[in-house]
Amino acid sequence: MDYAITTAETLTVSDLLAKLGVDAAGLKAVWVSYPTATFFVPASFGESVEVAEGATLRAFGQKDCMADGLLTIINELRNATECTCTFGHEGGYQLATIMGDICSKKGKPGDMALMRDLAPVMASQAICGEGRAIGRAVSQALDLFGDEIEQHITKKTCPAGACRAFQTYHILVSKCTGCGACLKACEDDAILGKPKFVHVIVQKNCVQCNKCLEACPEGAIVTAGADKPKTPPKPIPVKRKK
Ligand code: SF4
Ligand code: SF4
Repeated sequence: MDYAITTAETLTVSDLLAKLGVDAAGLKAVWVSYPTATFFVPASFGESVEVAEGATLRAFGQKDCMADGLLTIINELRNATECTCTFGHEGGYQLATIMGDICSKKGKPGDMALMRDLAPVMASQAICGEGRAIGRAVSQALDLFGDEIEQHITKKTCPAGACRAFQTYHILVSKCTGCGACLKACEDDAILGKPKFVHVIVQKNCVQCNKCLEACPEGAIVTAGADKPKTPPKPIPVKRKK
């Protein structure tokens, strides 16, 4: 969630959060936008930060994905500059492409190393401030959230459960009435079931289109990230008590 900063000043991150009315408990990180362009994690909330009038503080909770957050920040900084220098423009394009792939399940083993090489060069060689900020943001994010980002590549999972490409769909035994609405809505043969049986999603066929979730009148279909609910491998008689 974004909070507008209306006064240029220097204060601690904790004081800035309090001033903006943001509850620091449970936050994973905050990002203070350009020209500060810096991430802070709870361990660094006591540090001083110089903020500009018109800047933004973005708060990341435990269910926010830092890979997706970094991609958004890279693209915001790219859109804010018309710089065409090699490191600012091409470097920004490369980093946005790599992070876009990582967030859409197309990350490759060498992506982290490539970003670790490219980001510091951008931070020192880009002509525009925004280009240098992209380099700094990527380096900082890899240091602070490298493990979370890397799991998108190596484990094909989004630990925060936020990236759509990594979400899986599940039908809860406790809620399904076996009405069949989801089966009708799914166009990819990804649901098994028959009347009065708890339906089951075939993960390898699911394309995460969300149609079943929208069609279910019982709220029996949920999405999950790294922690999946237990569901039966094949349809079983409905257990729900009316
Ligand atoms: S998300 Fe789409 S493809 Fe997956 S089970 Fe639901 S309707 Fe089928
Ligand atoms: S998951 Fe929902 S839509 Fe599908 S059979 Fe169960 S209750 Fe009906």
